[in-house]
Amino acid sequence: MSGILIEKEKALESELAAVRKQMADEHQAKLKNTAVADRLVYAAYGRCPCGAGLAYDPLLEDENSVFKGPLSGYWDCSAILLGVADQSVTHTGKLPFAFYDIKCEKQPSANGANTRIPLAK
Ligand SMILES: [Zn+2]
Repeated sequence: MSGILIEKEKALESELAAVRKQMADEHQAKLKNTAVADRLVYAAYGRCPCGAGLAYDPLLEDENSVFKGPLSGYWDCSAILLGVADQSVTHTGKLPFAFYDIKCEKQPSANGANTRIPLAK
């Protein structure tokens, strides 16, 4: 392979990385301007012990996580994330993506199932 092609490949990969970074920044800016209730992504079936669905906020990454980027996110009680949790009952802790395989409402195999409506008490 010629050196010219290798240099061209490096330049294109660098340009691609810059475009991807710009797209990610635009996506994050759009999320920041969206209300929490509108950006939460819910579990298909998983619920908090309080009856509310598990959810994650795509904007939040756990700065205490050993993982970086999207993998540092976590599932949590949607009532806690929405700030409407009943403090007198037990809730789940944060469930890091890296350790908990929870089916998301966005997965095609969820067939539209979601936990957006809390279970009746
Ligand atoms: Zn809860």
